[in-house]
Amino acid sequence: MAMGISNRKTMEIHSADWVLPMATPAIRDGSVVVDRGCIMDIGIRPDILAQYQGIEERRYDSVLMPGLVNGHMHLELSHLCGISPPPAGNTFTNWIAELITKRQNATADRSQVITAFTAVLCDQYASGVALVADIGNDFFPELSVQRPGVWPEVLRMLECLGPNHQAIVAVQEKIADLEERYTACVHSPYSTGSDLFLFIKRRCRQLGHLFSVHTAESEAELLFLSSGTGCFRDFLEQRSSWDGTFGFAEKGFAGTIFYFDHLAILDAKTLLVHAVHVSQQELLLVAERGAHICLCPGSNRFLGVGKAPVELMLAVGILPALGSDSPASNGTIDLWFEMQLLAAENPSVAHESILAMATLGGARALHRAEDYGSLTPGRRTQILHVSSLALSRCMTMNQVFAELVTGGRPPEISWISSHH
Ligand SMILES: [Zn+2]
Repeated sequence: MAMGISNRKTMEIHSADWVLPMATPAIRDGSVVVDRGCIMDIGIRPDILAQYQGIEERRYDSVLMPGLVNGHMHLELSHLCGISPPPAGNTFTNWIAELITKRQNATADRSQVITAFTAVLCDQYASGVALVADIGNDFFPELSVQRPGVWPEVLRMLECLGPNHQAIVAVQEKIADLEERYTACVHSPYSTGSDLFLFIKRRCRQLGHLFSVHTAESEAELLFLSSGTGCFRDFLEQRSSWDGTFGFAEKGFAGTIFYFDHLAILDAKTLLVHAVHVSQQELLLVAERGAHICLCPGSNRFLGVGKAPVELMLAVGILPALGSDSPASNGTIDLWFEMQLLAAENPSVAHESILAMATLGGARALHRAEDYGSLTPGRRTQILHVSSLALSRCMTMNQVFAELVTGGRPPEISWISSHH
């Protein structure tokens, strides 16, 4: 893997007890050779030192790894923390109604929203998150500004809703005028009719954009899509948003993923968020189409909608991304917490796989694996240093993965900076 030593003066070696490249096996007593931000080589420390004699070495305790990737956030809801989880027996739409009311009352002050998402983004970066996918309804030019060293990179997607003909026409007009650099996607199958799915997915395909959509999040969604009844129908009628636009006539509804496939919107750039209520047949179809899944275990628990079949996903070859969702549906916006919860809820899933979801899985799902998610020679991926007393006591690779995944947010997290 050596890539030559022509730039000796600008090269640095970063060594640690454990180097976790993620796309390749973890290395005990490993070293990463970096030249002006570009990873040149990775290997066992004695081999690297022998090969790169005279190059400045910096040593770290514990772990070097790629930054985390948060596959699903709603940054514009960052000021809506403190909403209590819905009480048992309460419907999903009660929570949505409360969210909408709180949002309407609070968003009068735009600066409050910006202050809140700035704090969340800074904290994400401090916690080791390098890249986030963000979904929102409003325009915030602040989120289009890259702030290296302060924020993660933000992939912002405009989220559209179209529950009736009038709303769909309004969104289509808005999207027609949208600059091509803005990604538009769809909120969910229970808030948006199939015509708008087709319209927006077509635009995404033309522009090569990601298409993120909340998918199979609750049982109420399946009831609505299969029969047109339940709390979502009531919700739309109460808001005078129901005009029968939704096409429920598809014979034999068998799940949201099948519905999406019927609309021909499943491909490698489709990101299915939540995927709680999905069957093995649907997951095989997701794998076949090359579509991606982002899990939000903290949000799912908060809203009491169930638990995604993670083992089945891994079994059919899907490595999901992990997302925190927003403070409106999660008490903690922290990918370390998401990993911890996922591990606790799925004790048979390997810790290494869960860490891979929070890094590689996210980078692949967002089509940014060239820049994020793994430490790979030839790439400019930022290196994260993570350490703690518990990590320093780990004797085996599996203990390191277990501590990283089940130990919660480590006390010491920092980004490796280059001297050059
Ligand atoms: Zn969401």
